[in-house]
Amino acid sequence: MARINLKDIAHSYMSAPEAEADWALKPLNHVWEDGGAYALLGPSGCGKTTLLNIISGLVTPSRGQVLFGEEDVTELPTAQRNIAQVFQFPVIYDTMTVYQNLAFPLRNRKVPEDRIRERVEDVAEMLELSDQLKQRAQRLTADAKQKISLGRGLVRADVAAILFDEPLTVIDPHLKWQLRRKLKQIHDRSGLTLIYVTHDQNEALTFADKVAVMNDGRVLQMGTPQELFEAPQHTFVGFFIGSPGMNFLPCGFEAGAATIEGARLPLKAELAEKAAAAAGELKLGIRPEFLSLARENGESRLEVAVRAVEDLGNFKIVSTELRGRTVKVKVPEDQEVPAETAFLDFPADFTRLYADDQLIG
Ligand code: ADP
Ligand code: MG
Repeated sequence: MARINLKDIAHSYMSAPEAEADWALKPLNHVWEDGGAYALLGPSGCGKTTLLNIISGLVTPSRGQVLFGEEDVTELPTAQRNIAQVFQFPVIYDTMTVYQNLAFPLRNRKVPEDRIRERVEDVAEMLELSDQLKQRAQRLTADAKQKISLGRGLVRADVAAILFDEPLTVIDPHLKWQLRRKLKQIHDRSGLTLIYVTHDQNEALTFADKVAVMNDGRVLQMGTPQELFEAPQHTFVGFFIGSPGMNFLPCGFEAGAATIEGARLPLKAELAEKAAAAAGELKLGIRPEFLSLARENGESRLEVAVRAVEDLGNFKIVSTELRGRTVKVKVPEDQEVPAETAFLDFPADFTRLYADDQLIG
């Protein structure tokens, strides 16, 4: 096991990249600590698989180094990196039995047969495959085949890390939830470094202690679910995480207050100082969960028109209009929502400011 350090990595699939868009991964530095449960979260095409394949050695980066502990493995093939990888679709041997499939990575490394039996039975039990060990993989369902794939990733105890690339895509929703919890338990029990790629925020936030959010070839933020929720470093992170995502309002700054389409919202002194010093386009950011709706005006409140109320069982999402801008508010199910005019309350501790999409405070 080892700490994985990506040093000044960048990757282009083109032989002579020129424009920035030619780079699937823009220059990045990134460390995965030994034993962490990580998720790599971002929309399709943002570079998640490329980054994962650089760690496992399926892709050699155009620039930079991959370090496992102190060792530079940039030029080492996958087989010599001691990494297990599970892909989106099953990678198994159809003609082998479930047992033989699970034993394969161990037999390949000449692990003694009695030890193999122990590991295979252990993993099969975890994945509820014990009854199928003697069956040929061929006739099994897509779910079961993917479970074998997962098992093949989990069976070795000596790996530096296990990489999962959207491994639950083909699994049915109920089983998906179960397997995700299993993976979490496996992490807690084994202490192995796990990196889990997904485009689904729920999957990322329930599985990982730390989530790296990617967009457009960049890692925009690595943080705990709470950090990503409370202080997104980039507007994309605020928008991508949360349901609905964070509200962003283009704004100006004048005499200690943010100005939104002419409406003034006083900022706390510390934030006002940063706003005064900031260069670039300013946006005010606030999560729907942190806003509240009041019937009367006040110091940290702005007048809005209520446009729509969506009842979602335990809570309601209220769409309001602030001088032509939509702002969403999450309110408890039993709260009465004013029919027309209301006042949005912005709590100072959760009101954020962004300059050119980067958090300034
Ligand atoms: P993700 O896994 O987040 O969906 P990928 O890492 O697969 O993203 O892709 C990142 C970018 O690199 C995309 O624009 C994709 O089209 C491109 N890309 C991925 N694999 C290849 C490849 N083998 N050859 C050329 N371009 C690729
Ligand atoms: Mg991918």
